[in-house]
Amino acid sequence: QASTQKAIEMPEWKKIATGKGDMGKRTNMSMEEQRKSLPAYKMRKQFLDAVNDYNLLIVVGDTGSGKTTQLTQYLAEAGYGNRGMIGCTQPRRVAAMSVAARVSDEVGCRLGEEVGYTIRFEDKTNDSTRIKYMTDGIMQREILLDPELSKYSVIMLDEAHERTIATDVLFGLLKKTLKRRPDMKIIVTSATLDAEKFSSYFNECPILTIPGRTYPVEIMYSREPESDYLDSALTTVMQIHLTEPPGDILLFLTGKEEIDTSCEILFERMKALGPSVPELIILPIYGALPSEIASRIFEPSPSGSRKVVIATNIAETSLTIDGIYFVVDPGFVKQTAYDAKLGMDRLQVTPVSQAQAKQRAGRAGRTGPGKCFRLYTESAFQNEMLPTTIPEIQRQNLANTILMLKAMGINDLLGFDFMDPPPTNTMLTALEELYALGALDDEGLLTRLGRRMADFPMEPALAKSLIISIDLGCSDEMLSIVAMISAVQSVFHRPKEKQQQADQKKSRFHDPAGDHLTLLNVYNGWRGAGRSDPWCFENFIQPRNMRRAEDVRKQLVQILDRHRLRIVSCGRDTTRVRQALCAGFFRNSARKDPQEGYKTLVEGTPVYMHPSSALFGKAAEHVIYHSLVETTREYMHNVTAIEPKWLVEAAPTFFKVAGSDGAGMSKRKKAERIQPLHNRFAGEDDWRLSAQRRQ
Ligand code: ADP
Ligand code: MG
Repeated sequence: QASTQKAIEMPEWKKIATGKGDMGKRTNMSMEEQRKSLPAYKMRKQFLDAVNDYNLLIVVGDTGSGKTTQLTQYLAEAGYGNRGMIGCTQPRRVAAMSVAARVSDEVGCRLGEEVGYTIRFEDKTNDSTRIKYMTDGIMQREILLDPELSKYSVIMLDEAHERTIATDVLFGLLKKTLKRRPDMKIIVTSATLDAEKFSSYFNECPILTIPGRTYPVEIMYSREPESDYLDSALTTVMQIHLTEPPGDILLFLTGKEEIDTSCEILFERMKALGPSVPELIILPIYGALPSEIASRIFEPSPSGSRKVVIATNIAETSLTIDGIYFVVDPGFVKQTAYDAKLGMDRLQVTPVSQAQAKQRAGRAGRTGPGKCFRLYTESAFQNEMLPTTIPEIQRQNLANTILMLKAMGINDLLGFDFMDPPPTNTMLTALEELYALGALDDEGLLTRLGRRMADFPMEPALAKSLIISIDLGCSDEMLSIVAMISAVQSVFHRPKEKQQQADQKKSRFHDPAGDHLTLLNVYNGWRGAGRSDPWCFENFIQPRNMRRAEDVRKQLVQILDRHRLRIVSCGRDTTRVRQALCAGFFRNSARKDPQEGYKTLVEGTPVYMHPSSALFGKAAEHVIYHSLVETTREYMHNVTAIEPKWLVEAAPTFFKVAGSDGAGMSKRKKAERIQPLHNRFAGEDDWRLSAQRRQ
């Protein structure tokens, strides 16, 4: 297929690889020299003076200037780590882990000692930790337990330009903490120029700018819109490799599946070219990648070869890879956004904003003059892309956040000091959701159940199911299921060459009631087999992921123990497990559609059973699902068959049994005619509305 890439047709581009260029220069430097060569180093003194003089400070600097890895060390060197920890938040788990690993290298200690990190379900710190990297979600949890953050002397809210919900909420919370802790230092860092806005929000605090050191980046646009961005992205990568001078390539894709597939295709295409072509080292990087593999992206490519890093948005600002001269930007990102039609958050592939596109291009100009290939037209960039990304807090479900704020005793949500307040409607939806879950009472105050839910580091629905499972006498089973869902994306291994075999093995675990109990079967099977790796290989289960699930389970048990909550098994009576799941996930319920697939009960949106589900091709009339995953269509993920009356029992304020018009029906028929009481988004012609009007 001919590429429409304008740049590739330009003859002056087809320079022959010369082996010149200054990449690799820095890799010969000692660690100490590398540290001193970073732009942040020149500002070391000003930085420490400013921290000394002010409680609040904004630091702005290009990505790669050393904000994340250096500022924490400067603080430690100046003694701030002696009076408490230096905490640094990251919006992404991988960034927290990888940066902590890098800094522990630079400091010369083992990871988890003086320098450590904490992410959900994984704590790599100890009593000697002075510099602690963590996700912003973890910091939020710590503030819930200790509003004064007495263990910390400095908090650095890093990557603030990302504007995640957790970071946005921390802005407001830390401002409050500062009033009680006048000795505390708060540093907010950003890679972009919205510093003025940050400063005016943070009491007009000073802004320290780290002067950039960037090279020009030539931008190439596609001539016409690409019909298949993935294919044209890979073609572009190949063409860069074959025709451009040395320098590594960074390609932005949207997620794990896409990246894994692309790596395979690219590998095959390179192999087909034979040994005469210089080597192309293909490296993926995304959130769910184990850290050992992830760290390979930082290794310099051996001379004569070139590397291509295929990354999610994580490489946009959170991670800096040296030696990148070429960026390929298809212009898409996967982000969560509230979907009113589904009444829940959904991962969606959307075009990036102009600001993001600029950030991406900038990654090519860190080591020398670079090139960025935008796989969209210039007119699309100018006219179709938003200037900046909308902050998460204005586009995502806030149930989790509001539960947390309520648990901190913050009831006046409209009065909370948000930098950009979420839309009132979004807050109301979240309040309604928490009310239906029983986490809030009629007046919007936290219930005992709600307080308990807030103590579990997971979405409210999952926390609710777990807590209810104690009353239903199946907490032992639910713990395993929740751990399996929370720990990893999937425990099943499905290699391309052995898909059939893998599917057949998986089907042996299938429970007639669905995927949640299938996960339980896997977990119990693994435990029964003495947690053995050979058992995993034989059954196409990923042993690493099982161990992780086990680890998460242990941590959940600790939380239950802290609350003196009982762990009880229901034995074979797994109906209770399904009822407990209904208690949390009643919103995610769907009914088989006479035509095709399923329709959600709440909004009547068409959804489908994924072919990998234990219920695929089965006759389950009513189901609940854990989440929706959109590929070619809207697929339900982790699905369990239920009885509709459980929904009414689970959420009496949310569902009711269809009323008078069901007069002559059998009890069973009636129980199947349930309908939601809430119809926020229902249209005029909605079947449930007309059913209600008849009454
Ligand atoms: P910033 O936070 O300003 O974007 P960082 O502190 O993350 O910058 O990175 C500074 C430099 O440290 C990068 O340019 C890169 O060279 C180096 N670096 C960061 N992480 C790693 C790593 N894991 N391995 C090797 N080098 C790294
Ligand atoms: Mg950084």
